[in-house]
Amino acid sequence: MIRITCRRAAELLSRSRDEGLEGMNRLVLAVHLGICSNCRTYSRQLGWIEEALNCPSAAGLSEAARLRIVRVLEEPLPPGPGNE
Ligand SMILES: [Zn+2]
Repeated sequence: MIRITCRRAAELLSRSRDEGLEGMNRLVLAVHLGICSNCRTYSRQLGWIEEALNCPSAAGLSEAARLRIVRVLEEPLPPGPGNE
């Protein structure tokens, strides 16, 4: 069983969105997402935030809305079964 920490999973998640992952990292990330609901939630949030910010209508976001999104990004993950 290949295990990585949630911190490592978060790093891989953001890298996978920027530049993609090579085989081994992709595998360990998939394994981690399979056992860790915190990181699954986090990956969904990342996707949602990215979509929201890339959407043409996001150009009309108020400053308060942007700050709210950035705060969500900076919030630490709650401790859970997958955390080490
Ligand atoms: Zn995790």
